[in-house]
Formats: sequence, structure tokens, C-alpha cells
Amino acid sequence: MITIDKKICVGCKKCVDICPGNLLTLKNSRATCRDVRDCWGCCACVKICPVKAIAYQLSADLGGAGAKLFAHDSKTKLIWEILKRDGEKIILEVEKRQANKF
Ligand code: SF4
Ligand code: SF4
Repeated sequence: MITIDKKICVGCKKCVDICPGNLLTLKNSRATCRDVRDCWGCCACVKICPVKAIAYQLSADLGGAGAKLFAHDSKTKLIWEILKRDGEKIILEVEKRQANKF
């Protein structure tokens, strides 16, 4: 399930355009999800958001209940950032040319 921080969102619409389920829209120039229960967690919106306004909520078996997953997508690297509830931050860097190894 994703969460959108409307205080951070700058209304660029990139997430709206990329969501394969057409779940995201702009409301008052801020992204909103029509129904998070329909989100299948592809993380395309998480990766494309330029200001980290969208987080994927990690379940207990993935990163601990309440942990949030953010992403920074650059030309050569995909950087995943897990922010745990206790404040611990875990960074996972994936070289895009090596990505099919994982
Ligand atoms: S995670 Fe995927 S399906 Fe869910 S809202 Fe984002 S782009 Fe759409
Ligand atoms: S990509 Fe990020 S900043 Fe742009 S509209 Fe979506 S949530 Fe807002």
C-alpha cells in the first residue's frame, strides 16, 4: 500500500501518468490515490516521484510494520531507502545494468 504526503507533493503529475492502474489523480494540485486497496504495489509511482512524496508501506515480513520504502531513480542507479519506525535508515543501491541479477 502506498501513502502520499500531500505537504511534500509538488503536483508534477508524474505519478498520475505512470500508474498502470490509473489509480492516481491530482486533487487541488496534489496527488491522491482513488483507492489504495486497488494498488498492487508495483512502486512505479514511488520510483518516479522527484520529491519522495510517495512511500510504499512495508509489511512486517518485508521491513517491519510501519517501515516506509522510498526510491531515488537516477540514470545509472536505483536507490531504495527504507525508513524504519525507530528512525533507522537502510539504503540499498542497485546498479541498473546489474538489476536483472536480483
Ligand atoms: S504502486 Fe503501482 S499500482 Fe500502486 S499506485 Fe503506485 S503506480 Fe499505481
Ligand atoms: S510524482 Fe510526487 S510530486 Fe509529482 S504529483 Fe506525484 S506525488 Fe506529487
